[in-house]
Amino acid sequence: MAPEGQRPLGGRVALITGASRGIGRAIALAMAEAGANLVLSARGMADLEKVAEEVRGRGVEVAAIPCDVSDAAQVEALAREAEAGFGRVDILVNNAGIAESHKFLGHPDDLWHRALDVNLTGTYLVCKAFVPGMVARRWGRVINIASVAAKTGAKYIAAYTASKHGVLGLTRALAAELAEHGVTVNAICPGYVDTPMTEAAIRNIVARTGRSPEEARRVLEQTSPQGRLIQPEEVALVAVTLAREEAAGINGQAINVDGGAVMA
Ligand code: NDP
Repeated sequence: MAPEGQRPLGGRVALITGASRGIGRAIALAMAEAGANLVLSARGMADLEKVAEEVRGRGVEVAAIPCDVSDAAQVEALAREAEAGFGRVDILVNNAGIAESHKFLGHPDDLWHRALDVNLTGTYLVCKAFVPGMVARRWGRVINIASVAAKTGAKYIAAYTASKHGVLGLTRALAAELAEHGVTVNAICPGYVDTPMTEAAIRNIVARTGRSPEEARRVLEQTSPQGRLIQPEEVALVAVTLAREEAAGINGQAINVDGGAVMA
């Protein structure tokens, strides 16, 4: 646990969706290390409870609450429970997301709707539930985990790309609207990150192309000029930075963490 003086998020309450593994878990651990009390959410409770236990080891308070972000009633229940437990949420990290791929010819409509429902509408619903409290308290940080797919197009991920472009549009619109209320809204745009989501992408490439898992991983590593996957902790570092008091002037931005693949 960092000493008191080095806990820049001390006294803050952060909600992280999709906190049970991958990037969300790394953000939870980094925000706990920075002193924030945490509300952690995902659909499945088993892995979420494990992350909550890791967080408790860092000396902050934590609640683990199940919620499907694409379900408005569940998001409203999450807001009520978080409010009852902590009184407020100051920092919102919209991280929950799914990434299914399919070529556009013969694209299944249900895949399209799932991607939009979870990645875009989920972000909208969680913002809708938690931003009013931030506005009322005149302080808030909304951090949306988008993707480089929010800024550029790639093969076989039409639904994911459209949903993440939408997340970036929502980020910018809310940043403009909430600026006068003391709330900043920013996006983080990672390239391929070493998480279970990317492991699933590797398995998918293996199944579809007959490549070995090592070759498939190399394909994804080569999308970065650094020739490697990003580590979840690298994304978490940016999230903690955006949540800090001193980051008040950063608003409406979309910060790439991709080794330099996308430079805009
Ligand atoms: P993982 O698949 O490893 O983890 C996803 C998390 O989201 C899990 O905690 C999962 O828990 C949760 N989740 C999924 N669907 C829902 C839902 N409907 N409601 C609530 N929670 C949900 O993903 P990553 O950690 O890799 O990705 C996290 C975010 O970062 C996503 O938004 C992703 O698009 C984005 N991103 C990832 C990149 C990568 O290369 N991995 C690159 C760029 C962006 P559960 O299933 O139990 O609900």
